[in-house]
Amino acid sequence: MECEICGSAEAEYLIQVEGAKLRVCRDCSDTGRLLAGPPPKPQKAGVKQDGSLAEGRQELEVVEGYGSIISSARKKMGLPLEVLAERINEKASFLERVEHEKTLPDEKLCRKLEKELHIRLLEPAVSSGTAESKKSAGGVTLGDIIEIEKKKPAKGG
Ligand SMILES: [Zn+2]
Repeated sequence: MECEICGSAEAEYLIQVEGAKLRVCRDCSDTGRLLAGPPPKPQKAGVKQDGSLAEGRQELEVVEGYGSIISSARKKMGLPLEVLAERINEKASFLERVEHEKTLPDEKLCRKLEKELHIRLLEPAVSSGTAESKKSAGGVTLGDIIEIEKKKPAKGG
């Protein structure tokens, strides 16, 4: 449908001018009182809208008990810490900290360990909505662990 004022552009707005309702284009929409804007565009399935979903990348977090998963898988394969560290181009001391869960491995390191030890260290993070409730339920997200690392609670444990 074309604009009832200029007749050239597509009429997306409904306005009222001196008692008459007119379907007008955007340019003409400020001629009278705006009654309705353009209808929402139908969403095509499979097409991502720009915005929150535009990243197209699933957030991942390190699984609980990653340290024991790594160390038990490593021991099962009979790999000394130093050998595994060398294989993935990391320092043995760093790997040891990871196994003791003193350091949270980043995604890159997790990938290397997963490949090397045939284990699973990364899991899709829950959506932000449930992350809040998970937090209060005692669950710890990757971000939380980093926060804890920074803060280092005073009480001994
Ligand atoms: Zn117009």
